[in-house]
Formats: sequence, C-alpha cells, structure tokens
Amino acid sequence: MFTGEAYTKDAALRLLASEGEDLLRLYQRADEVRKEKMGDEVFIRGIIEFSNICARNCHYCGIRAGNKGVSRYAMDADEILETAYSMVGTEKTTVVLQSGETPAFTDEELGEIIRRIKGETGLSVTLSVGSRPLETYRYWHDCGMDRYLLRFETSDPELFRRLRPGSTLEERLRCLYDLKAAGVQTGSGFMIGLPGETLQVLADNILLCRTLDLDMIGIGPFIPHPDTPLGDEKNAYDDNREMFFKAIAVLRIFNPDAHIPATTAFDAVFPDEGRNRVLKVGGNIFMPNNTPLKYRKDYLLYPGKPCITESAEVCTQCAVMRIQAMGRKIGTGPGHSIKKRT
Ligand code: SAH
Ligand code: SF4
Repeated sequence: MFTGEAYTKDAALRLLASEGEDLLRLYQRADEVRKEKMGDEVFIRGIIEFSNICARNCHYCGIRAGNKGVSRYAMDADEILETAYSMVGTEKTTVVLQSGETPAFTDEELGEIIRRIKGETGLSVTLSVGSRPLETYRYWHDCGMDRYLLRFETSDPELFRRLRPGSTLEERLRCLYDLKAAGVQTGSGFMIGLPGETLQVLADNILLCRTLDLDMIGIGPFIPHPDTPLGDEKNAYDDNREMFFKAIAVLRIFNPDAHIPATTAFDAVFPDEGRNRVLKVGGNIFMPNNTPLKYRKDYLLYPGKPCITESAEVCTQCAVMRIQAMGRKIGTGPGHSIKKRT
C-alpha cells in the first residue's frame, strides 16, 4: 500500500498476493513505515509464563485443560517477584506475565503481584491471562498494570466458536473494548493459518486490528500440537510459508504506529531466523523467554518452541546480539504505546 491508497480489504488482499519484485517492494515499504513511525529501537520485554493451569479447552493449544499429559505448575508470588527482580538493570524494561486462564490465583493475589513488581522494580507490567470482566481489568490497572495482551485469534466468528469452545468472538472483542475503557494499553492479534482460514479471513484479521486501534499487535503462525484436536491438521499456508512474513508486512502498513513483536512462534517455524525476519519487515519488539528453566518444558503451547534449555540471561543476550547485528538499537525507557489517548 503505497501513498494515497485506502486501507481496504482489497488493498490488503492485493498486498498479500505480492510476488517477485512486488514482494520486495512490500517488505521495503513495511520496513520504511516501521522506521518512520517507531524508529530503530527494538524494545525487549521479558516474559514469565507463571502458570500453565488452564480451565479452557482451545483446540489449538498444547496446555488446554483436556491435555492430561501436561505436568501442571503455578509459580508462587515470591518466585514471580524474584524473577521480575532479575530483570532490573538489564535491557528488559517490561515484564510480561502470561498464563492459562487459571484459577490458581485470585484477582487480589495477582493484583498484589502487579503492585509489588510495579512499586518495587519500576518495570512496566503487562498481563496476558485471558478473558476477564471489566472490573478485574480496572482493578489491575489501579494496581499498576500498564498493558494487556489478549489475541482475538481469528476474525471469523464461526471458526472462533469451533476452536474456542464455550466462548464467542463477540465476548473476546468485548474484553478488548473493556481493556481500552479501563485505560489499559491494549494488545491483541491472531494466529496465522488456522485450519479453515482463507486469505479473506487473513485480510479481515489485519483489518480488524486496524479497526480496534490497538497499541500492540502480536501475530504468529499456528503450529499444530500433536496432543490437541488439531494435531493432525496443517497450517493453512504450509505450502506457502512466506505468507507469515507477508502478513507481518501488511499488518505494519495497516497499523503504522502499533508495537509489533517478533513472536516466538516464528522461530519455531524458522529456527534462529524467523524473529529476525519479522524485525526486518515491520516488527519492533522482541520478547525473550524469562520463565525459570524448570518450568519451560511444561509451557508448550505448540511443539518446537525454542529457548527451552537456555537461561534467561542467555536468551536476553541472544536477543541483544540479534538486534544489534541488524543495525538496530535496544529500546530504553518503559516502551509504552506511542498512541496518544485522551
Ligand atoms: N491463556 C491466555 C494466554 C496464553 S495463550 C490466552 O489464551 O489469551 C497465548 C497465545 O498462544 C494465544 O493467544 C494463541 O494465539 C497462542 N497459541 C496457542 N496455541 C498455539 C499454537 N498451537 N500455535 C501457535 N500459537 C498458539
Ligand atoms: Fe488456555 Fe490460553 Fe491455551 Fe486457550 S490458548 S487453552 S485459554 S492457555
């Protein structure tokens, strides 16, 4: 999409179909937009996968409640605090707390953890713990939560209903509007190539991100997990995996001033280079794994997840080297949304 064109579904579809010279131009344009709006800084956020206990049964996810082969864990508050403390003074200025939709913590317990991390370490705090009521989001925001990640997963209501039993796309979108209403910097996104996804749906996904006017947008390839109902399925773009990067580039062009992370699933599909390529076609965030090593093998949303045996320090240094080797800078400061909200 180039100067003067409208952000329409047709434009998105046309860009997703780019090949040869056009594809190179698409990538170049996405990189220019990233540079123009977000600059050369890449922010590093440390993710702590603090519990794999989940009450839901999403068909795609390796830690779904129905997967009895998973050894379940929940870190306690002290261990989470200690892990967050280990980021102080490093390149990581945000801690991302992610878990299943777990009943392992009450809202108050999580609120206290947010309050302590925020008050004692000064790190920015992002949560990613699933669909919750508005009051909970408000309460956590009062405790100091800066941001929240909640993917809508797919913009196709029928596909959503099938793959996330017991919930609807409408409810998921309601949560996103609630987060915004609560004054939380809001991140969402989707999986690329869910079985049944068409290019029309992919274009709609990108458009929905734009309509939602998000602060952060995380997208990554769907990777079938053998112990799930989608275990025998393939990614919809299995024969055309370039589509994963095209999706990032079009997403950047349609959402010039959103933070776009190079998500871990890209490295699972393209070992050691997937995330670098994302940073070259629109991405500006890197999220190394900061979960204590002993838990990592039990937080497998999908197979082939990298960084299962490397320590947090090694993962961070690896991120720093990858970013610097690309001629980009490490982000300093909190790395908040650049969107002005009133
Ligand atoms: N329980 C929370 C957060 C943890 S799941 C939630 O569901 O929002 C984080 C993300 O992992 C999900 O939003 C989904 O997009 C992604 N994910 C789950 N299973 C996956 C798979 N098989 N392949 C790729 N991404 C997957
Ligand atoms: Fe639970 Fe999230 Fe996995 Fe769904 S995607 S089963 S809510 S951890």
